[in-house]
Amino acid sequence: MSSSHRAKKSLGQHFLHEQRYIDRIVQAVNPRPGDRLVEIGPGQGAITRPLLARHGELTVIEFDRDLITPLMEMAEGGGRLTVIHRDVLEVDFGKLAGPDARIRLLGNLPYNISSPILFHALDHAASIRDMHFMLQKEVVDRMAAGPGSKIYGRLSVMLQAYCVVTPLFTVPPGAFRPPPKVDSAVVRLQPLARPEVLDHDRFANVMRAAFGQRRKTLHNALDGICGDADMEAAGIRPDARAEQVPVADFIRLANHLPQSGANA
Ligand code: SAM
Repeated sequence: MSSSHRAKKSLGQHFLHEQRYIDRIVQAVNPRPGDRLVEIGPGQGAITRPLLARHGELTVIEFDRDLITPLMEMAEGGGRLTVIHRDVLEVDFGKLAGPDARIRLLGNLPYNISSPILFHALDHAASIRDMHFMLQKEVVDRMAAGPGSKIYGRLSVMLQAYCVVTPLFTVPPGAFRPPPKVDSAVVRLQPLARPEVLDHDRFANVMRAAFGQRRKTLHNALDGICGDADMEAAGIRPDARAEQVPVADFIRLANHLPQSGANA
């Protein structure tokens, strides 16, 4: 199906073609009988095809209408492929999971909307068993960064508050057609069974403010959201900057603040 389709830049289309990276992704996912696999952006089926052959069943979410029929044709006679033709940001992952069966999400993500996809997945973390995503390497580095690093930011804290973040391997531009300008990397995210965050919206608000003005001290950045005493109660120095504060301290701070949208 590949020859007639021209990659669409606006949809972040960089199709994986190097077999050894495809194999490594399939190995990393390592599907087991009964797993509910959901792939975001199957494209021309580079990862879809081997997963379907191995697992026999797969749901894919693809936005590009030109790819829908070829995907369905690809699956004919070779497993049960459910194709959802939609913007992934509008898909309720909770509905794809069963009452007792969380989904396993994966995909070589469109890089132009990778952060919104990650935040969308976080909103549904309770319905997701794990995620394997290909992203720009720079984004994976930020996701996994710790306090004190220049690249530690809102994405790091939000993801690490809800998931174990494990970078797996790097993929060079030449593995894709057309090649992206940057290195890519595959990351595994495993949502925590019991995240310590008590109120998702409140935590997200505090993080937006703390890192919205990351060069300010938290005393200034969180003005109007909480006072110095709240920070001190959470073990945070008000003269610190957000990039110095560990995830656990931010969670303690947000949990300590009043609920009911007081910080919105
Ligand atoms: N999985 C294929 C591969 O590895 O070769 C394609 C990966 S390509 C980087 C990203 C895919 O996501 C494309 O097929 C693109 O059409 C699709 N896509 C882009 N925006 C999307 C959206 N909002 N919702 C669902 N799929 C989207």
